Amino acid sequence: MRGEALDVAAARGLLLAEAPPPRTEEVPLAECVGRVTAAPVRAAAPVPGFDNSAMDGYAVRSADLAAGPAPLRLVGESRAGRPAAAGPGPGEAVWISTGAALSPGADAVVPVEEAREEDSVVTPTAAPVRPGAHVRRAGEDVEAGAEVLPAGRRIGAAEVGVLANLGLARVACARRPRLALLTGGDELVEPGEPAGPGQIYDSNRFALLAMAAEAGAEASHAGGMPDDPAGTREAIGAALDADLLVLTGGVSVGRHDHVKEALAELGVEQLFWRVALRPGGPTWGGVLRRPEGRPTLVFGLPGNPVSALVTFRLFAQPALLAATGRDPDEARTTAVLAEPVATKLGREVYLRCRLEPEEGGWLARLTSDRQGSHVLSSMLGADCLAAIPADRDTVEAGERVEVLLL
Ligand code: AMP
Ligand code: MG
Repeated sequence: MRGEALDVAAARGLLLAEAPPPRTEEVPLAECVGRVTAAPVRAAAPVPGFDNSAMDGYAVRSADLAAGPAPLRLVGESRAGRPAAAGPGPGEAVWISTGAALSPGADAVVPVEEAREEDSVVTPTAAPVRPGAHVRRAGEDVEAGAEVLPAGRRIGAAEVGVLANLGLARVACARRPRLALLTGGDELVEPGEPAGPGQIYDSNRFALLAMAAEAGAEASHAGGMPDDPAGTREAIGAALDADLLVLTGGVSVGRHDHVKEALAELGVEQLFWRVALRPGGPTWGGVLRRPEGRPTLVFGLPGNPVSALVTFRLFAQPALLAATGRDPDEARTTAVLAEPVATKLGREVYLRCRLEPEEGGWLARLTSDRQGSHVLSSMLGADCLAAIPADRDTVEAGERVEVLLL
């Protein structure tokens, strides 16, 4: 297993097996969006909590109107948030607003549009009225005791609304895994500085931090790594306390690549080196185990910007999802290739594609015919990576392939 190119699924499996399990913390509701539930959330009480009106109108006793329209005496009002103290008795009605509690005795609502009101007497025009008409029952939205969210669910707008409906001020969420990123290479300069001869901007830093944050990490740039052994070792050693450590650049076999050696010296165990993959073949995966304490997963990614993003999506993103209790496969689906592609046998190829709706599904079309691993602009507008299996050298237009959503 060491030193040979693994296939993507095997490499991913080795890393996922080491992914640290989620830890829990209580998070105020207002800060929950983007976080992940750490436990199933159940409703302590029904939603809505009381029978209420779906319309502005009159709360009535349906029995009074069983035989047809009949005049009812208006005896009070139930407003939203201010229920009527007493209900309509026989032959009576109570003015009711949308969302107001049904007063005791009432079992139906007559909408204001279906009644005539004069001198505190209301006469429904569309009787008979069936019991329960225009009434929202307690528990119609959520029944008491029901599980509204499973563990491992990312909280978005709908989820946070439902949690608020339950009256919860705090939610047990998975802690954000801490991800440290080190970008290596003497050629790197920061945006904002002038790029001297042979220098380039550190694009991986910004692109990978964005992908990490998107996947739920508390991600930070832990600095650069110079192209020398001692400096590389020092930079990695200082960043190893994160849950996940991502390194780009200096991982390969060039004269000035020192990452693998430094990792070995620091006691990080190699899980694999090289994946049968393009772009992103020269990828290293490992783990620092601690006798007591949590492990650190280490990802040595290629420096080429497209390779770095693709390998992050293939390996680090699923590990981040697993570390928050999410399904690492949740953004995997299939689509139909819009055009034929020719690749090389023996390694899986991931193509940057846009998804276009077509009848009955999604069509995956290359974002650019320049798919080189240094062509970062080919990631612009990419909705997914389309996977061409290693045992195929050509795939026809119209064939269905696996895609990973970005
Ligand atoms: P390396 O993996 O160090 O051999 O680098 C491979 C290629 O990726 C080289 O062209 C590097 O200049 C480029 N590269 C490395 N790190 C970065 C980075 N952080 N941002 C953009 N390009 C990079
Ligand atoms: Mg380099």
